[in-house]
Amino acid sequence: MRKGILIVVSGFSGAGKGTLVKRLVAEYDNYALSVSATTRQPRPGEKDGREYFFMDRERFRQKIDENGLIEYACYCDNYYGTPREYVERRLSEGRDVILEIEIQGALKIKAQYPDALLLFVMPPSMEELRRRLVGRGTETQEVIDRRMRRAAEEAEGIENYEYIVVNDDLDACVRQTHEIITAAHNTPQRNKEFIENIRTELEGEK
Ligand code: 5GP
Repeated sequence: MRKGILIVVSGFSGAGKGTLVKRLVAEYDNYALSVSATTRQPRPGEKDGREYFFMDRERFRQKIDENGLIEYACYCDNYYGTPREYVERRLSEGRDVILEIEIQGALKIKAQYPDALLLFVMPPSMEELRRRLVGRGTETQEVIDRRMRRAAEEAEGIENYEYIVVNDDLDACVRQTHEIITAAHNTPQRNKEFIENIRTELEGEK
């Protein structure tokens, strides 16, 4: 069985990473999307258990204490975290598990799962990013400004990621991301056991 890869997708608010990961899950059958826990309020149309598991700070703290999260971070005054059970179960089933998380969480994942694949979604330009954030219509100007400041901070950390994907044309972006993940399955680093087995068999040829 092909081993699952843990895939981290980060990017500035408004870069389109949510749409990208939804399309990957809908179009290819090897992906499983992790649903995070958060203390942020649901946006109109968001459903508990679908976009996020919405909870108060006390419940979130409890999750941390139970070791129920593989990482968590504070982003613009709200907590966000990745539930452990789903991720580990899906990986053991051979699925590629996608985490759509911000950069502090991404770095914590890389430290715990060295074979994780870190992707950073970029907008074609900053002008386009601001236009998308305003166009979404779900955020106040204050929140947008805060998220733009946060984008400036996150931009400092892009070199921690293995690939950037530019979300200009969505179809092309979905295809390209899938190709990167497909190729990532074939790195020696992620195929240690297979390579070792071949080497063991070659021992007899010496
Ligand atoms: P939003 O409030 O726009 O849904 O998400 C804000 C930020 O939190 C986004 O950058 C999103 O990727 C990130 N995020 C969502 N879930 C998690 C999580 O479980 N852990 C971490 N570290 N970040 C998350």
